[in-house]
Parts: sequence; structure tokens; C-alpha cells
Amino acid sequence: MSAIDGLPPLREVIAAHGLSAKKQLGQNFLLDLNLTAKIARQAGDLTGCDVLEVGPGPGGLTRGLLAEGARRVLAVEKDARCLPALAEIGAAYPGRLEVVNGDALRIDPLAHLTPPIRVVANLPYNVGTELLIRWMTPAQWPPFWESLTLMFQREVAERIVARPGSKAYGRLALMVQWRAEAKIVMQLPPEAFTPPPKVSSAVVLITRRQAPRFEADAAVLARLTAAAFNQRRKMLRSSLRGLAPDIEARITAAGLKPTARAEEIPLEGFCALARELSRA
Ligand code: SAM
Repeated sequence: MSAIDGLPPLREVIAAHGLSAKKQLGQNFLLDLNLTAKIARQAGDLTGCDVLEVGPGPGGLTRGLLAEGARRVLAVEKDARCLPALAEIGAAYPGRLEVVNGDALRIDPLAHLTPPIRVVANLPYNVGTELLIRWMTPAQWPPFWESLTLMFQREVAERIVARPGSKAYGRLALMVQWRAEAKIVMQLPPEAFTPPPKVSSAVVLITRRQAPRFEADAAVLARLTAAAFNQRRKMLRSSLRGLAPDIEARITAAGLKPTARAEEIPLEGFCALARELSRA
């Protein structure tokens, strides 16, 4: 019996339900319930919050979230083989776990959950990045979530929290840091997972801001940072040439040097330039 919930250890659950990890679903499971409870705690106080968990697999993190007091958990899992194991967890926490067998990219969380909502996930990395971009660019801000606690390949985690002047700094950092606080809260070696992936992982905590840090139009800012970082080694006056005929004057009006390169420009500078570009 495991200590946190009286359910069997995850190795037994996996053996009992034949949950051999499938590579094409990005399945690298966390089997240490102390570790999954620790990840759940990184999401902040869960009591009084609903949680969207994406990709619960055999349910290690799900059990952590429930044991840490989440009001309700919606767990969205693509692999139907995991459903019986997840049903056992639901039975141990009556009325607190809803499992949806489907693709997280297609789910509407507000059809199932009541705010405040926190999102927690240990996902395949490609799906994780796609969902992060979606969660950071909703039609309206603030979004449905209060915080995102997400496992990423360490290199991606470093791109999310990167500061100007570093190699990792780019569009992902700007997209996230414009409207949220982001920090790496845990580092995990490959051996923390079964089977171990090739690279190290990190948990990133992203907490939404009520409003963006600096005023700017989201679409203009996205277009600007895409152009700037597609040619990150070029000077702004050349990488941004296609954005406006008088781009050099606008760069100067935003308080930036036309000879500067994208990776030196802080968020505030990009927002100032986005405002200049929005002017008629
Ligand atoms: N959360 C579990 C853990 O920590 O042990 C499993 C993690 S495993 C890295 C990723 C899980 O996401 C797998 O169970 C996989 O089947 C599921 N998954 C992959 N793509 C998905 C998608 N688009 N929507 C929902 N679940 C998905």
C-alpha cells in the first residue's frame, strides 16, 4: 500500500493494467508518489481550486494532485488503456476526479471545471509546447487559468524563462513573460521517469498577470517578434524591414537603436516598438 492514498504502488498498477509505455504517445511515467506530490505542491495551494490535468497516464500526478487537496481534477488522457487505472483513483476520491478519454488539444476546460482553475501536466514535449502557446494566446485576457505547472524538456524550460542577452531568449520567452510570471521550480534527471527519456526535464510554473506587463497589441507584438527572431543575428533595421517603410524612424521613436539585435532587446522595448508600429 502506498502512503498517500491507500491505492497500490504505481508499478503494480502498470503491471495489473498492462500499461507498457508507448513511444508514439510520449509516455515517460513518473512512478514515485513523493515526487508527484512535490510537483503538485509547486502549483500552489490547490484547496479551493479545480485542476486540469493533461495526460494523466497511470495517474501518478493525478494522485499527487488529489492528495494535495485539489477540489476537483479533470484528467484528459488520449490512451484508453489508462482508463481502468484512473477509474480506481476516482473511486478512492469520490466526486473529485473526472476522466475524459480524448485529445487535450480539443477539450474546452470551462465545460467541465469552475474557476479558479490551475493547469498541471507532464505531457509529451511537442503537445506541451503547442498547448502552452494556445494557453498564452487566448482570444481574451485574462485566460481561464490562474497558473500552469508544466513539465518540459529542460532546454524548452530555459527558453520560457530566458532573459535578454542569452541564447535561449526569443519568441517563447517574450510570449510568456509579457502576460505572466515564469520560473523553473524543479529540475528532474532522466532517471526520474520510466522509461527514462534522453534529456533532462524541468517543471515551469507560469502564473498569469491580470493584465500584460506593458501595453501592446498582441498580433502586432507576435508579428514583430517573429520577424526579429527569424533573423536574430541581423540588426533590427534589416530584420524588420518588411514591417513598415519607415521602420528605422519607428525603431528610433521607440527608444531603440536600429543597429541593435533582437536578443539584446528587453520585453519593454519590443512593446514600445509594437505601439509605434500600431500607429497609422
Ligand atoms: N502524467 C503521467 C505521469 O506523469 O506519469 C504521464 C506522463 S506521459 C509523459 C504523457 C501522457 O500524455 C501519456 O499518458 C500520453 O498517453 C498522454 N497524451 C499524449 N498526447 C496526449 C494528448 N494530445 N491529449 C491527452 N493526453 C495525451
